[in-house]
Amino acid sequence: MKVIGLLGGMSWESSAEYYRLVNERVREFRGGYHSAHTVLYSVDFAEIEAMQAEGRWDDAGRELNRAARGLEAAGADFVVLCTNTMHKVAEQLTDGLGIPLLHLADTTAAAIKAENVKRAGLLGTGFTMAQPFYRERLAAHGLDVLVPNEEDRETVHRIIYDELVHGVVTDESRERYREIIARIVDAGADGVIYGCTEIELLVGPEDSPVPTFPTTRLHAEAAVDYALGKASLPSAPAR
Ligand code: GLU
Repeated sequence: MKVIGLLGGMSWESSAEYYRLVNERVREFRGGYHSAHTVLYSVDFAEIEAMQAEGRWDDAGRELNRAARGLEAAGADFVVLCTNTMHKVAEQLTDGLGIPLLHLADTTAAAIKAENVKRAGLLGTGFTMAQPFYRERLAAHGLDVLVPNEEDRETVHRIIYDELVHGVVTDESRERYREIIARIVDAGADGVIYGCTEIELLVGPEDSPVPTFPTTRLHAEAAVDYALGKASLPSAPAR
Protein backbone atom coordinates (compact mmCIF):
# COMPACT_ATOMS: atom_id res chain seq x y z
CA MET A 1 0.00 0.00 0.00
CA LYS A 2 1.32 3.44 -0.91
CA VAL A 3 1.60 6.03 1.85
CA ILE A 4 -1.01 8.79 1.45
CA GLY A 5 0.35 12.24 2.29
CA LEU A 6 -2.55 14.35 3.52
CA LEU A 7 -1.85 18.08 3.42
CA GLY A 8 -4.66 19.39 5.55
CA GLY A 9 -5.83 21.92 8.06
CA MET A 10 -7.68 23.92 5.49
CA SER A 11 -9.77 23.56 7.53
CA TRP A 12 -9.14 20.70 9.95
CA GLU A 13 -12.92 20.11 9.96
CA SER A 14 -12.64 18.72 6.44
CA SER A 15 -9.26 17.06 7.04
CA ALA A 16 -10.90 14.99 9.77
CA GLU A 17 -13.38 13.83 7.10
CA TYR A 18 -10.52 12.89 4.78
CA TYR A 19 -8.90 10.86 7.54
CA ARG A 20 -12.16 9.02 8.25
CA LEU A 21 -12.95 8.46 4.57
CA VAL A 22 -9.55 7.05 3.56
CA ASN A 23 -9.60 4.65 6.50
CA GLU A 24 -13.17 3.56 5.80
CA ARG A 25 -12.35 2.86 2.18
CA VAL A 26 -9.29 0.77 3.02
CA ARG A 27 -11.42 -1.20 5.49
CA GLU A 28 -14.06 -1.66 2.79
CA PHE A 29 -11.49 -3.16 0.39
CA ARG A 30 -9.19 -4.97 2.76
CA GLY A 31 -11.35 -5.72 5.80
CA GLY A 32 -9.99 -7.03 9.08
CA TYR A 33 -7.66 -4.67 10.92
CA HIS A 34 -6.56 -2.86 7.77
CA SER A 35 -6.39 0.93 7.74
CA ALA A 36 -4.90 3.56 5.48
CA HIS A 37 -1.16 4.17 5.62
CA THR A 38 -1.01 7.96 5.92
CA VAL A 39 1.14 10.89 6.91
CA LEU A 40 -0.69 14.10 7.84
CA TYR A 41 0.75 17.59 7.70
CA SER A 42 -1.81 20.01 9.08
CA VAL A 43 -1.31 23.77 8.82
CA ASP A 44 -2.62 26.55 11.05
CA PHE A 45 -5.55 27.71 8.94
CA ALA A 46 -5.43 31.25 10.38
CA GLU A 47 -2.10 31.79 8.60
CA ILE A 48 -3.40 30.48 5.28
CA GLU A 49 -6.67 32.41 5.57
CA ALA A 50 -4.73 35.65 6.12
CA MET A 51 -2.63 34.96 3.01
CA GLN A 52 -5.81 34.34 0.98
CA ALA A 53 -7.52 37.48 2.24
CA GLU A 54 -4.43 39.60 1.52
CA GLY A 55 -3.81 37.99 -1.88
CA ARG A 56 -0.39 36.68 -0.75
CA TRP A 57 -0.66 33.59 -2.91
CA ASP A 58 3.10 33.30 -3.47
CA ASP A 59 3.63 33.11 0.29
CA ALA A 60 0.92 30.46 0.48
CA GLY A 61 2.55 28.51 -2.35
CA ARG A 62 5.91 28.59 -0.54
CA GLU A 63 4.30 27.48 2.71
CA LEU A 64 2.50 24.58 1.07
CA ASN A 65 5.65 23.61 -0.83
CA ARG A 66 7.45 23.37 2.52
CA ALA A 67 4.62 21.28 3.90
CA ALA A 68 4.60 18.96 0.87
CA ARG A 69 8.37 18.48 1.19
CA GLY A 70 7.75 17.57 4.82
CA LEU A 71 5.29 14.91 3.74
CA GLU A 72 7.80 13.55 1.24
CA ALA A 73 10.54 13.47 3.88
CA ALA A 74 8.16 11.64 6.22
CA GLY A 75 7.64 8.88 3.65
CA ALA A 76 4.53 9.90 1.73
CA ASP A 77 4.32 8.43 -1.77
CA PHE A 78 1.99 11.16 -3.03
CA VAL A 79 0.26 14.32 -1.83
CA VAL A 80 -3.45 14.89 -1.31
CA LEU A 81 -4.08 18.60 -0.80
CA CYS A 82 -7.27 18.62 1.30
CA THR A 83 -8.78 21.83 -0.08
CA ASN A 84 -10.07 22.93 -3.46
CA THR A 85 -9.10 26.57 -3.04
CA MET A 86 -5.41 26.02 -2.42
CA HIS A 87 -5.06 24.15 -5.71
CA LYS A 88 -4.65 27.69 -6.96
CA VAL A 89 -0.99 27.28 -5.92
CA ALA A 90 -0.62 23.64 -7.07
CA GLU A 91 2.28 24.53 -9.32
CA GLN A 92 4.33 26.16 -6.56
CA LEU A 93 3.37 23.37 -4.19
CA THR A 94 4.88 20.73 -6.47
CA ASP A 95 7.98 22.73 -7.40
CA GLY A 96 10.99 20.45 -6.86
CA LEU A 97 8.86 17.80 -5.21
CA GLY A 98 9.81 14.19 -5.91
CA ILE A 99 6.32 12.77 -5.39
CA PRO A 100 3.11 13.49 -7.35
CA LEU A 101 0.09 15.56 -6.34
CA LEU A 102 -3.31 13.90 -6.73
CA HIS A 103 -4.98 16.97 -8.21
CA LEU A 104 -8.51 17.53 -6.89
CA ALA A 105 -9.85 19.12 -10.07
CA ASP A 106 -8.71 16.11 -12.12
CA THR A 107 -10.41 13.70 -9.71
CA THR A 108 -13.57 15.80 -9.87
CA ALA A 109 -13.51 16.02 -13.66
CA ALA A 110 -13.11 12.25 -14.00
CA ALA A 111 -16.16 11.68 -11.75
CA ILE A 112 -18.27 14.20 -13.66
CA LYS A 113 -17.39 12.66 -17.01
CA ALA A 114 -18.16 9.18 -15.71
CA GLU A 115 -21.70 10.38 -14.93
CA ASN A 116 -22.03 11.96 -18.36
CA VAL A 117 -22.76 15.37 -16.86
CA LYS A 118 -21.95 18.14 -19.32
CA ARG A 119 -22.67 21.35 -17.45
CA ALA A 120 -21.73 21.33 -13.80
CA GLY A 121 -22.69 24.00 -11.28
CA LEU A 122 -19.76 24.87 -9.01
CA LEU A 123 -20.15 25.76 -5.33
CA GLY A 124 -16.99 26.63 -3.46
CA THR A 125 -15.16 29.53 -1.88
CA GLY A 126 -15.31 32.87 -3.62
CA PHE A 127 -11.79 32.18 -4.90
CA THR A 128 -12.73 28.83 -6.41
CA MET A 129 -15.95 30.11 -8.00
CA ALA A 130 -14.72 33.44 -9.32
CA GLN A 131 -11.08 32.85 -10.26
CA PRO A 132 -10.02 30.86 -13.32
CA PHE A 133 -7.64 28.29 -11.77
CA TYR A 134 -10.29 25.67 -10.96
CA ARG A 135 -12.93 26.38 -13.60
CA GLU A 136 -10.32 26.43 -16.34
CA ARG A 137 -8.88 23.13 -15.26
CA LEU A 138 -12.38 21.59 -15.46
CA ALA A 139 -12.97 23.32 -18.78
CA ALA A 140 -9.70 21.87 -20.08
CA HIS A 141 -11.21 18.45 -19.36
CA GLY A 142 -14.05 19.42 -21.73
CA LEU A 143 -16.57 20.43 -19.07
CA ASP A 144 -18.86 23.41 -19.04
CA VAL A 145 -18.90 25.05 -15.60
CA LEU A 146 -21.60 27.33 -14.21
CA VAL A 147 -21.17 29.44 -11.09
CA PRO A 148 -23.92 31.06 -8.99
CA ASN A 149 -24.73 34.75 -9.38
CA GLU A 150 -22.74 37.23 -7.31
CA GLU A 151 -25.14 37.42 -4.39
CA ASP A 152 -25.34 33.63 -4.17
CA ARG A 153 -21.56 33.34 -4.41
CA GLU A 154 -21.23 35.66 -1.43
CA THR A 155 -23.68 33.55 0.57
CA VAL A 156 -21.88 30.29 -0.31
CA HIS A 157 -18.52 31.82 0.63
CA ARG A 158 -19.76 33.42 3.85
CA ILE A 159 -21.28 30.18 5.11
CA ILE A 160 -18.00 28.35 4.46
CA TYR A 161 -15.80 30.86 6.28
CA ASP A 162 -18.15 31.97 9.06
CA GLU A 163 -19.63 28.58 9.84
CA LEU A 164 -18.38 25.39 8.20
CA VAL A 165 -14.65 25.80 8.84
CA HIS A 166 -15.59 26.34 12.51
CA GLY A 167 -17.68 23.17 12.52
CA VAL A 168 -20.96 25.10 12.65
CA VAL A 169 -23.70 23.37 10.65
CA THR A 170 -27.22 24.83 10.70
CA ASP A 171 -30.55 24.02 9.07
CA GLU A 172 -30.87 27.63 8.00
CA SER A 173 -27.65 27.54 6.00
CA ARG A 174 -28.60 24.18 4.53
CA GLU A 175 -31.80 25.79 3.30
CA ARG A 176 -29.79 28.68 1.73
CA TYR A 177 -27.60 26.14 -0.09
CA ARG A 178 -30.65 24.23 -1.30
CA GLU A 179 -32.10 27.42 -2.77
CA ILE A 180 -28.81 28.26 -4.48
CA ILE A 181 -28.50 24.73 -5.86
CA ALA A 182 -32.07 24.98 -7.22
CA ARG A 183 -31.23 28.29 -8.92
CA ILE A 184 -28.08 26.96 -10.57
CA VAL A 185 -30.01 23.91 -11.80
CA ASP A 186 -32.66 26.28 -13.21
CA ALA A 187 -29.85 28.10 -14.97
CA GLY A 188 -28.93 24.86 -16.77
CA ALA A 189 -26.61 22.81 -14.56
CA ASP A 190 -27.14 19.05 -14.89
CA GLY A 191 -24.81 18.30 -11.97
CA VAL A 192 -23.50 20.20 -8.94
CA ILE A 193 -19.93 20.17 -7.63
CA TYR A 194 -19.55 20.50 -3.87
CA GLY A 195 -16.25 22.21 -4.63
CA CYS A 196 -15.14 23.07 -1.15
CA THR A 197 -14.07 20.34 1.21
CA GLU A 198 -16.38 21.51 4.04
CA ILE A 199 -19.57 21.64 1.95
CA GLU A 200 -20.29 17.94 2.50
CA LEU A 201 -20.64 18.70 6.20
CA LEU A 202 -23.76 20.71 5.28
CA VAL A 203 -25.40 19.17 2.20
CA GLY A 204 -25.58 15.79 0.52
CA PRO A 205 -27.06 14.26 -2.62
CA GLU A 206 -30.54 14.61 -1.13
CA ASP A 207 -30.26 18.40 -1.27
CA SER A 208 -29.97 18.53 -5.05
CA PRO A 209 -32.34 17.50 -7.85
CA VAL A 210 -29.35 16.58 -10.06
CA PRO A 211 -26.26 14.43 -9.38
CA THR A 212 -23.75 15.92 -6.94
CA PHE A 213 -19.98 15.65 -6.89
CA PRO A 214 -18.70 15.72 -3.31
CA THR A 215 -15.05 16.62 -3.77
CA THR A 216 -13.83 15.44 -0.37
CA ARG A 217 -15.30 11.99 -0.78
CA LEU A 218 -14.21 11.68 -4.41
CA HIS A 219 -10.68 12.82 -3.59
CA ALA A 220 -10.35 10.50 -0.58
CA GLU A 221 -11.63 7.56 -2.65
CA ALA A 222 -9.24 8.32 -5.50
CA ALA A 223 -6.38 8.49 -2.97
CA VAL A 224 -7.16 5.03 -1.63
CA ASP A 225 -7.68 3.55 -5.10
CA TYR A 226 -4.27 4.84 -6.12
CA ALA A 227 -2.65 3.77 -2.85
CA LEU A 228 -4.00 0.24 -3.26
CA GLY A 229 -2.99 0.05 -6.92
CA LYS A 230 -6.62 -0.15 -8.07
CA ALA A 231 -6.34 2.99 -10.19
CA SER A 232 -3.69 5.24 -11.58
CA LEU A 233 -3.57 8.98 -10.96
CA PRO A 234 -6.33 10.77 -12.88
CA SER A 235 -4.93 12.33 -16.02
CA ALA A 236 -4.18 16.02 -16.15
CA PRO A 237 -5.89 17.87 -18.99
CA ALA A 238 -3.95 18.20 -22.23
CA ARG A 239 -2.42 21.70 -22.47
N1 GLU B 1 -11.57 23.74 2.34
C1 GLU B 1 -11.99 24.75 1.48
C2 GLU B 1 -11.86 24.39 0.02
O1 GLU B 1 -11.98 23.24 -0.31
C3 GLU B 1 -11.86 26.16 1.86
C4 GLU B 1 -10.83 26.51 2.88
C5 GLU B 1 -9.56 26.89 2.18
O2 GLU B 1 -9.48 28.03 1.80
O3 GLU B 1 -8.70 26.08 1.96
O4 GLU B 1 -11.73 25.22 -0.83
